[in-house]
Amino acid sequence: MKDDALERLKAAFRSLPGIGPRSAQRIVSRILARDRDSAKALCQALDDALKSVKRCEICGRLCEGDICSICQDEKRDVTQICVVESDEDLEAIEATRNFNGRYFVLAGLIDPAFGTGAEELDFERLFEIVSQGIVKEVILATPFTPQGDATAHYLARFLKARNATIHVTRLSRGIPAGIELEYTDANTIANAIYARKEEL
Ligand SMILES: [Zn+2]
Repeated sequence: MKDDALERLKAAFRSLPGIGPRSAQRIVSRILARDRDSAKALCQALDDALKSVKRCEICGRLCEGDICSICQDEKRDVTQICVVESDEDLEAIEATRNFNGRYFVLAGLIDPAFGTGAEELDFERLFEIVSQGIVKEVILATPFTPQGDATAHYLARFLKARNATIHVTRLSRGIPAGIELEYTDANTIANAIYARKEEL
C-alpha cells in the first residue's frame, strides 16, 4: 500500500496516551523531515528498554533487573504498602516525598461493566505479601472512580480476611473524583496521604 510505513508510524504514535491525530502528524513530520538522528536514538532507546525493563518481582513496578530500587532500599518502611493503579501513580506519590513505605502496582482495576473481575487481576501476590505478617498498613491509592472504588472495597475485604490485624486505609477524598493521581499536584497528594482514612 502507498505510504504504508508512514501511516503505520502515525498510527503507532496515535495509540500513545495524550497524542491525537494532529500531534502524531507533527511528530512524524518532525522526526522524518528534520531530525532523523533523534529518530534513530528513539528507536535504540525503545529497543534497549524493551529488552531490559520488566516488572519488579515484588511490587510490579517497571524496572531493570528482577527487583526495583524501592524494594531493594533498606531504608524504606516495610510495614506500609501503598497500592496504586499504575507506574505513573507510583511516581506521582514518590514525587511528594511524603511516603517512605513500599508499593504494589496493580495489573488493573475491577470493572464490572467490562467484565473485569478480581480473578483476572491476580491479587494473590499482594495477599501473599500481606499474609507474611510484616505489613501493618495497606494504603489504597486507587482512583475515586467506580472501578477504583470497587477495587478498594474488594481489596479491603480480602486483605483483612488474610490478616485480621492489618490496617487498610485509603487516600482521603482531597483527590478530586475521577481525576488520575498522576495529574494531581504533589501537595494535594501529600495531604491525601496524611488524611487517609480506614477503608471499611
Ligand atoms: Zn519493587
